[in-house]
Amino acid sequence: MIYLDYAATTPVDRRVLDAMLPYFRENYGNPSSVHRLGQKAETALEAAREKVAAVLHCKAEEIIFTSCGTESDNLALRGTMMASRKASSGTWILTAKTEHHAVSKTAEQLEKEYGFQLEWLDINEHGAVKPESLSKAICSDTALTSLMLANNEIGTINPIADLANIAKANNILFHTDAVQAAAYLDVNVEKLGVDLMSLGGHKFYGPKGVGALYVRKGAKLLPHMTGGGQENSQRAGTQNVPYIVGFAEALHLAMEEREARAAHVIPLRDRIIGQVLETIPDVQLTGHPEHRLPNHASFVFKDVDGNLLLQMLDSAGFACSSGSACKTGNPEPSEVITALGYSHDWALGSLRITLGTDSTPEHVDSFLKTLPVLVEKVRNLNQR
Ligand SMILES: *Cc1c(COP(=O)(O)O)cnc(C)c1O
Repeated sequence: MIYLDYAATTPVDRRVLDAMLPYFRENYGNPSSVHRLGQKAETALEAAREKVAAVLHCKAEEIIFTSCGTESDNLALRGTMMASRKASSGTWILTAKTEHHAVSKTAEQLEKEYGFQLEWLDINEHGAVKPESLSKAICSDTALTSLMLANNEIGTINPIADLANIAKANNILFHTDAVQAAAYLDVNVEKLGVDLMSLGGHKFYGPKGVGALYVRKGAKLLPHMTGGGQENSQRAGTQNVPYIVGFAEALHLAMEEREARAAHVIPLRDRIIGQVLETIPDVQLTGHPEHRLPNHASFVFKDVDGNLLLQMLDSAGFACSSGSACKTGNPEPSEVITALGYSHDWALGSLRITLGTDSTPEHVDSFLKTLPVLVEKVRNLNQR
């Protein structure tokens, strides 16, 4: 199997696994316990927090560890909006249709079930949010803007520093979902100028089921998990020490090796994009041609059933993705592809190829040999 789906998840780095292992059986203490075994776990937990803070250029106490990227997004949106309500402050959320469901579905629930107001910002043809659409949408009742750093489906990088600047000038909290971005982009919160930022371990060679939320000091959150006073009373529950240790090590390595990792995948990605556009008829690149993640190639093929193409690729030994959440049954194009304005005959034929540390030129060659044959096969089946 040739794995070309690193945006879905990544294998745990050997060095990360080695860092985690002692915290399962030897140093298994509860970081909240008073005794030495607990203190040892607490020391590891706080060292991990410092390590994450060093990558983000923030204070350790501004990091909340969570159970995943999705939880970080939920806590950011729900937590700030509930705190805003408590303070009788703003009621509007601004976000975009291109966001991950962890943000968009949370925003929709806050609107439908909790009485907040929601506005979708305009995007351009590459799926980036236009700064002027944010300026226009802001009103005195806006509480929060949430826009992702890089898109998981189409790879487009948003101009977060510009967008966050606009929010700041208007005294509005700004959250960014950097879950997909952190593997390749700088997540320095000072440079980005954001108030809240979500991360998830398994997108950068860390374990699944662990995430973090950066919350700038002074930004108010109402916790969504109540119980013990863990995580500065912002997120109750005994911390998952081994996973948090792994998360911090993986993020640290991602920062240390950022340039080398990008240099490895960029030529491979560019070969895929160049050759697919050149050799296959009726295909378009989705997302931005340059301002995109270094490991990310995504396309739409006209008159192609994307799910069928994925199944055929799987049978041929390639693990790819459509970017769409739909697996079987009634196929619906993803909200992201729809938001880009593709007509129905294009929108169902999306394909995402994402590269990583184990990707080789031979993998890419082999994929580029197979793809045109399978696209034609799916198109011929479609006509019958
Ligand atoms: C994967 C992903 C998430 C969800 O993270 P989990 O840790 O899998 O819950 C959220 N946002 C983006 C952009 C992602 O790529």
